[in-house]
Amino acid sequence: MTVHDPIYITTTIPYVNGKPHLGHALELVQADVLARHYRRRGHPVRYQTGTDDNSLKNVLAAEAQGLSVRELVDRNAAAFSDLAGYLSLSTDDEIRTSSDERHKPGVHRLWRACEESGDLYRKHYAGLYCVGCEQFYTPDELVAGRCGEHDTEPELISEENWFFRLSAYADQLRAAIVNGRLRIEPAGRRNEVLSFIDSGLTDLSISRSATRARGWGIPVPDDPSQVIYVWFDALANYITALGYGTDDAELARWWTGAGRQLHVVGKGVLRFHAVYWPAILLSAGLPLPSDILVHDYLTVDGARISKSAGNTVDPAVVAASYGTDALRWWLLRDVPRVGDTDFSIARLIARSNDELANGIGNLVNRIVALIGRYRGGVAGQQDETQQGGTPVRQAQEWQALQAARDKAPVLIDAALAGGDFRKATAAVWAIVDRANRCVSHSRPWDLAKAELAGDRDAGRQLDAVLGTLIATCREVADHLEPFVPRASAKIAEQCAGERLPAPVPLFPRLSLQAG
Ligand SMILES: [Zn+2]
Repeated sequence: MTVHDPIYITTTIPYVNGKPHLGHALELVQADVLARHYRRRGHPVRYQTGTDDNSLKNVLAAEAQGLSVRELVDRNAAAFSDLAGYLSLSTDDEIRTSSDERHKPGVHRLWRACEESGDLYRKHYAGLYCVGCEQFYTPDELVAGRCGEHDTEPELISEENWFFRLSAYADQLRAAIVNGRLRIEPAGRRNEVLSFIDSGLTDLSISRSATRARGWGIPVPDDPSQVIYVWFDALANYITALGYGTDDAELARWWTGAGRQLHVVGKGVLRFHAVYWPAILLSAGLPLPSDILVHDYLTVDGARISKSAGNTVDPAVVAASYGTDALRWWLLRDVPRVGDTDFSIARLIARSNDELANGIGNLVNRIVALIGRYRGGVAGQQDETQQGGTPVRQAQEWQALQAARDKAPVLIDAALAGGDFRKATAAVWAIVDRANRCVSHSRPWDLAKAELAGDRDAGRQLDAVLGTLIATCREVADHLEPFVPRASAKIAEQCAGERLPAPVPLFPRLSLQAG
């Protein structure tokens, strides 16, 4: 891959039966970091999000609230759209499956393409259906008769549906995953998909009775008694937004041509993205996505976030109360690559105060203040000669800083390629940590005192120390851009120009807010 290859990055499109919760923010921020990162590395990037409006869950939620489905969907979709501002997302495109003119023609074309491959057929079917998952379950997939995701008892549904010949694609899917054409990260999730395929794929029901769907959704072509299964409809968004069915040029640029297609998804929808979706694409004669990056879940006070548990955290409220930087930093720094992570406001505050305010903010503030005090705000050039036989005290400290700076770009690239945001931010944090130690060990205030007493060597050392440290701060600002874009801009502004502006506190110290 070259830097000119386009990269298409998507989040899943959440169903909009309610307002967004913190889990949505996690996925949106992860995808945004990747989009910003690859743009910085020179790739053309298209970052896309959207909403799944056609879910039966939306129909049920609207009925429960006495609203029309259109009213409910419009209201909640707007709340998802607003997150772009609260979270500083660099989204290029948003698709809404119920109202976007690109969507329905593309879904119909995809249906027909699978039909032409001989992969669709009608069959009477009875099975246990979880509306929460919009999925049939076999009895052995249930936990004590209940859905493992929703802890609800699935409903027995018996109707005639259209089926997709998923079973025909087991070998091709397996091969694509094993040879890396379809890369699934992390490895544990890849293995999970392979064992699901190996356990035997059964054909997939891909339509619902129009009556049961209350007429909401996209009708099956030439069969008005059925609407297209919402997962078939929703997954298609990844290509309908690119013009599949309406504009082949865009599709060629982002999907069928060179480059990469990267889906960021939660563990709960892995099977849909890593098995059903690629099989549908194979049937339609379309290329597979190149990467599926799977994240785990957030919990609040130890419990899975759910509306019924009443523990939803509104990311817009958190961002408005504690700041976009603090929220993004927590999502990226506290959440490990593998495993669920418990969120609390106290943890968000601690992370922000420790690292943004005390770590990064304090570093920049100290350096700018020292340059203001001892050099009238004019920072000297970074002294390259100190890297080998360093003239300043504590040579080891400076070498460690230099090493952290040298390694950071490679570490960030590697970590983000695997979807490890914590490891990527750790590489930036290592620079900050080393730089703060260098300030303490080199004691610029003592060098300034010695210089004032006539020690010219101390003066040269002070120039080298301050020059290296301000260059480090600018580098930190640059590295932080994909992770905390607002903070990055603030630091860059504080460190910019021949004569630095007077130091101002960059990050507020957070404390728990009432309510
Ligand atoms: Zn379920």
